[in-house]
Parts: sequence; structure tokens; C-alpha cells
Amino acid sequence: MPEIVFRVRARDASARLGELRTKSGTLKTPVFFPVFNPNKPYLSPREMSEIGAQTVMTNAYIIYRTPRLRERALEEGIHSLLGFDGVVATDSGAYQMYRYGDIEVANLEIIRFQHEIGSDIGSIVDVPMADDIDRQTAEKGVEITLRHAREWREVRDSLRGTLWIGTPQGSVYGDLVERASKEMASLDFDYYGVGSIKKSLEAYDYVTQVDHFLTVRRLIPRGKPVHFWGIGHPSTFALFAAMGADSFDSAAYALFAEDGRYMTPLGTMELSDMEEFPCSCPVCRSYTPRELMSAPRSERVRALAAHNLHVSIQEMKLVREAIRGGWLWELVQERVRAHPRLLEALLRLLERYGDYLEENEPFSKRSGLFYSGPETAMRPEIRRALRLLERVKGDRTYENPLFGRIPLGLRYTYPFGHVMTPGFGEPLEEPTDLEIVEAVLSYQFGPEALSVLEGRELAVLRSKRTGMPRDILIDGERFGFLRPYDGLVVLSLDGARKLLECLPRPSSRVVVYDRYAETVARGTSVFVRFVRDVDPAVRPGSEVIVVDESDGLLATGRAILSAAEVKEFPDSHVFVRVRHHVLPRQNPSTIDRST
Ligand code: ZN
Repeated sequence: MPEIVFRVRARDASARLGELRTKSGTLKTPVFFPVFNPNKPYLSPREMSEIGAQTVMTNAYIIYRTPRLRERALEEGIHSLLGFDGVVATDSGAYQMYRYGDIEVANLEIIRFQHEIGSDIGSIVDVPMADDIDRQTAEKGVEITLRHAREWREVRDSLRGTLWIGTPQGSVYGDLVERASKEMASLDFDYYGVGSIKKSLEAYDYVTQVDHFLTVRRLIPRGKPVHFWGIGHPSTFALFAAMGADSFDSAAYALFAEDGRYMTPLGTMELSDMEEFPCSCPVCRSYTPRELMSAPRSERVRALAAHNLHVSIQEMKLVREAIRGGWLWELVQERVRAHPRLLEALLRLLERYGDYLEENEPFSKRSGLFYSGPETAMRPEIRRALRLLERVKGDRTYENPLFGRIPLGLRYTYPFGHVMTPGFGEPLEEPTDLEIVEAVLSYQFGPEALSVLEGRELAVLRSKRTGMPRDILIDGERFGFLRPYDGLVVLSLDGARKLLECLPRPSSRVVVYDRYAETVARGTSVFVRFVRDVDPAVRPGSEVIVVDESDGLLATGRAILSAAEVKEFPDSHVFVRVRHHVLPRQNPSTIDRST
């Protein structure tokens, strides 16, 4: 089985905290590739790495057509040429070739060249497009891009070791973008690119970028990493990561520096207007804005580039931390306030692509859900919760402006118990044990789950320390417990058995092929290739019941991916982390007796 290139470790919104494996090391995603231009080396790749860059991107075409660079690259390799032993990505130079008109001849040559110089991530020659080109030109560009992609496919076996990015194009013509994306998806690139639409990006038209990105993203396999070309302003990273971009590249940190522009995650400032630096990076500690203004130009540009890169990398770290902590939407909502056009793009994303976002959104989170503006109501967690709320009955309710009336039994359940809305506090009444168990079971597993309580005796044990409801006992047997951080039910094996009797197939289930049944029953994670069928309602973080083909219980666990993702992830990616399993592990010393 081929090694997995991209592995998802955690998620929030449609962002993935992933590991991207290359031959020179593993990148934590989402990741920013600062572009190193060998003709304008303000900062060396080593200096970039000292600032915190995990990786750099450089232009293979510039190296190729500069004889002195080309010879050294071929002789010593790209890592030695750059003096950088981390991950090096190369851009095919599509944009330059497009401008100089050599695009027809150069594709295979430039692909082989990237491989020969030892690039870790290479790209084919696509045809970048602005938003104002006519349809005929766009069609021609798509044809050329697809022909180049097919050429790559013919030779890919001789290019192993390098990861290859394929980038469908099509400008603002949705049907062309769709056709290009579908064909590129079938060619099985390691990595996909989405080109930011030129001109509209410079004009702060982020809505066009959102539409273009999502058109491509929804047509290429979800298990592949996706690169968003030419995105380099830190104020945009959170939004674009939340819609599913796994990496970005840009020379903006240097280009802005050339123009005397100082980046912050809240927007850009003119160095000449500044009195104080609101940053503590080494540059901002060493200079005042006035000192930097009067420094020689080369020193000023270098220093500003270092600061701009510093904030870009800091922001990427913050985005990753927000994914880990489950507060990426809160960060997005804050960042889009940097520019009304960014807010407009967030509204477009939430309005038009809500169903797609909901499929990727984790079922629960450890963090609170903070009201951060009117668009909070459009967040995928809220839309989902409103849909699932329809199946929960309860005589006693309380009011929240985001959800309307909520059955009291859900007051401790995610997201109802975790939402902070200005002017609204906690309900005054306390739900009974029965109200809690009935409401949570219907919310999480559907109203059919209530049959487990019929004619049986329910008891809920409370935590001695916090007084919160904890263990659920049905007829004296432990059904499961209410997880402290989200109030959702974690099933015991006995609880799973009881639920299987009343839930229609495939509800809450992951069905594995019989040939993998024993492996799972002994506690191995459920890998994508084990999966025969899955409840379409499963989301990342859902509690699931793992069964064999005859609905026999094997295990319980937590889904890592959504049902929609399973068929589009590599066979050896984990789908369910098993919690309890029905047979002892092979090794007697690790037998799991807990149920
Ligand atoms: Zn700084």
C-alpha cells in the first residue's frame, strides 16, 4: 500500500490540522510557503527558517532559465543551492511562462527539471487566469492545462519521490472550472492547487476567490491536500483555512516590503505613517518606524520583509492552534473585521456553501461557542444543531436567540450548553435526569433511541466533585456516560448493544467488511479500507457503533472523518478510533476489560 502523503490529526470548520509527508520532512498544515525569488534574495531560506518558516517555495522556471543557477541546481540539488535542508516546493513558473509565451513547449521539460533538482513538491505548468478574460481564452487555457496534466500522468512513474500539484483553471467560468477539476481529480495528483484569481484578488474581491476555491475544492478528492496559490496576507489565512485550504504561498511579505508596507493580521499600514511598531519581533524591537524610514533602502526592505514574514508565520501558528482548540470560526469572525470585503467573503461562504461546511464540521468541540457577530447564526454547528433539534421533544424549554426554544434536557449538551450570547444567561431551571437522557439520546442518535428506555429502569449517577450527571445506568447496567466537556453520550459496549436493537440500519453505525471484523473486535482502529457502509449522518467526532456485515457488534469509537469523506481518503487513513471492543487484544497484557 502506498504511504499516506496527507494525514488529518484534528479539525475545525473545514480546516484540517494535518501532516504532509515529503521526502525532506513532514509539514504541519495549514502551512505557509514563503516564496524565495533567487533574483531578489532579501531574506535567505536559512533566515526564513530562523523566523519560523517550515518550508520555502521557489520558482523552478527562473532557476531553469538562468544558466548559472540551473547548472548548480542540477549538480548539487535545490536544497544545496538554497542552503536549506527543509522542505522545498517549486512553482513551475506557469505565470512567467504565460507572460513570455513559452508555455506550449516547456511543460514536460520543467516537470523533469523539478524532479532532477530534488524538489520535494513540484507543479505542472497550468495557465493562470485573471477574472476579465473572455470565454474563448479561458477555454484555450483550460485545454492547455489539461493537456499538461495528461502529459504529467504519462511520466509520473519516473518522477516518484516528488509530490505533484495539479491546478485546475477556468477563471470565472464555473462550468470550465468544473470540467477542469473533474478531469484533474481523475488523474490522481498527490496534491491539488487552486489559483487565486488575478486582478480580483488585488482589488480585494475575496468573494470571487471563495467561489472559485469552493468550486474546485468540492470536485477534487477530500483526502488530498489543497494549496491556494498566491495567498499571502495574514488577515486572510484564517478565513481561507476555514474553507479548506491546507497551504498557501506568496511573495507578498517581500513585495509589500518593497513598497514600504507593514503587515499585521488586522490589515496593512504604511511605514511612513507609523509612530510605533505594534509587534515584538526582532526587527520591531531594533528599530522605530522613523529609524527604519531613514535607513538605506536595502536595509529597510530587508527588515520590513523579515517583519512581514514573521507576522505571516505567527498567524499560521495561531490558525493551527485555533483548529486544535476548536475556536477557528471565532478567529475567522475576528479577522474578517479587518476589511469589509473579507466579511463579505465570509458571508458568501456561510450562505452559499453551508451544506458543504456542515459535512466537515466536527460534531462537538471542547471550546465554547462565542457569539461574534450576526453571522454567528449561520455557522455550520448552529445550522446542524437547529436541524437535529427538530427531533428532540421536551415539555420544558428555555430560550436562546441563536436556537429559539431549546428543550431543558439539552442545557449541558454541545452546542446549547456552550454558546455565549450577549444578554442571555443560563436557564434558571434544572432538568431532571430523565429529561437529560431522553433529550441527549434523541439529539445524538435519533428519536428511535428512546426505545432503550421503554419499560426499563433508568438511573443517573452524578459526579461527586461537580454534581453534574455522569453515568447512565439502564436496568442497573452501565449504558454509557455523559462526557464532561460536551454533555454527549459515550456508549459502553452494553449501551451499543441496546441501541443496535432499536436504531434502524445504518443509523449511528460503521459497517466493516467481515474479513476485518476480528481485527476491529480486538481493538484495531477502523481504517478507510475496512469500511463497507456508514451512516451518512456521521461527522468528525461522532460517536459510532462499529458492526460487521450482519450487524453484529464489534466496537464503539469516535469518527475522525465524516461519512462523505470516507470514500475520498486513502485506504490506510484512520476513520474510527476504537474505544471499546468486544474481544481481548491479541497480546494478553493489554486486554481491555473496561466496557
Ligand atoms: Zn515585527
